[in-house]
Amino acid sequence: MVVAYHPPPTMSASHTANGSGAPDQNPYHVALTQYDRAVRYLNLKDNTVEYMRYPHREFTVNFPVVRDNGKLEMFTGYRVHHSTVLGPSKGGIRYSTAVSLDEIRASPMWMTWKCALAGIPYGGAKGGVVVDPKTLSLRELEALTRRYAAELVPFIGPKSDIPAPDMGTNAQIMAWIMDTYSMTMGYSVPAVVTGKPLNIGGSLGRNEATGRGVIACMIEALKRHDMNDPEDVSLVIQGFGNVGSNAAAYAHSLGFKIVGVSDVYGGIHNPHGLDIPALRNYVAETGGVRGFGGADDISNDNLLTLSCDVLIPAAMEGQISEENAPYIRAEIIVEGANGPTTPEADDILNDRGVHIVPDILANAGGVIVSYFEWVQDLQAFFWDVGDIYTRLEKQMQHAYRSTEATAEEYNVDMRTAAQMLGIRRVAEAFETRGVYP
Ligand code: NAD
Repeated sequence: MVVAYHPPPTMSASHTANGSGAPDQNPYHVALTQYDRAVRYLNLKDNTVEYMRYPHREFTVNFPVVRDNGKLEMFTGYRVHHSTVLGPSKGGIRYSTAVSLDEIRASPMWMTWKCALAGIPYGGAKGGVVVDPKTLSLRELEALTRRYAAELVPFIGPKSDIPAPDMGTNAQIMAWIMDTYSMTMGYSVPAVVTGKPLNIGGSLGRNEATGRGVIACMIEALKRHDMNDPEDVSLVIQGFGNVGSNAAAYAHSLGFKIVGVSDVYGGIHNPHGLDIPALRNYVAETGGVRGFGGADDISNDNLLTLSCDVLIPAAMEGQISEENAPYIRAEIIVEGANGPTTPEADDILNDRGVHIVPDILANAGGVIVSYFEWVQDLQAFFWDVGDIYTRLEKQMQHAYRSTEATAEEYNVDMRTAAQMLGIRRVAEAFETRGVYP
């Protein structure tokens, strides 16, 4: 039986092409195309395939904020839940002028597969407000956050949907959401958000989680290449923010040689290895990596094609493209960032035999420790950081090994295998639960 595809109401008719012949960069269309590719290998029922391609709920709200000058301004916010089959939905809240419904729709689908792959009982969600937070005063930012949170009250909750920080939002914004939700309920509900400050129920180890998880995956990938001695392994890391700098620090502490790093202003290179603790201090003082002693300044373009064993893109999407993919010299790419490799570059690198550890696997450490934060909040019992790192590592290793085994079994690349595993777990749960009513 062939089941017809009906696009969600505000989505354009075609999800595979934009009619211009150019690659379709709409993130929601990319997510659907990847989904179509992965389900081809899975022997799923047509009804199940049809069900999982839709976001479960989409919420749009236009709400007022009174600016400091006394004028009322209207803002638009969204929250999309892709799936609640395995448990509550989970995902970030973004404040950016680039927020749109199609952008907000793509992430929850990836997040659903990421959580299922990582063995976490969540589905995916994402929210956002169309705003440049830098244009607001602190009072305006709090007012905007509290009003958006109040509008979200029917859709979020520790048992239904659990927001977290994303681009343009932070721990303080999570604290305001937690407080607004708690005031509405009449009691404190720390488990309604993750990524909170420690003093209101945040988790130890959350800051380091994604970077550490990236390195845990890298170590598994290196085993497959028989590269077991850290001193013989060279790394290049693009992006020196939360993910990049924590990955660098953890890798350095294990003895790996980090030969190049970059941030938005450019990169640095030392083939003998960089002193990462000194570099972190330097970045804290100067705001960037360039000019660090004992290294050559290089451009971001050159950084990606440096000679190294492992390349870790940890900056932003679309960095590895069909233009630079032929020149990348790393044998292994571990995707710390979300969507750093375009589908065209993916094909080139796969043909060249580069081992790509895909984002939904490699950067799952963040959502794994967010899950630990939620579990600790629900239990009102907090773990020490050693427990958190041990559990994180175990969960990452398990996810990596299952993905590699699936890639081998079906003779597919790791990205397809990771998606297949996530999709299959959700599909099995959906079929067990059945269709209500
Ligand atoms: P961040 O803002 O802390 O750091 C981003 C870094 O990338 C900064 O050093 C910035 O200067 C650099 N950068 C920006 N544009 C660049 C460019 N064009 N070239 C080189 N460097 C550039 O962000 P983050 O939290 O580290 O997130 C990085 C990526 O990882 C994003 O794609 C994010 O979605 C993804 N991610 C983050 C987490 C997390 O827990 N923080 C979890 C999963 C995925």
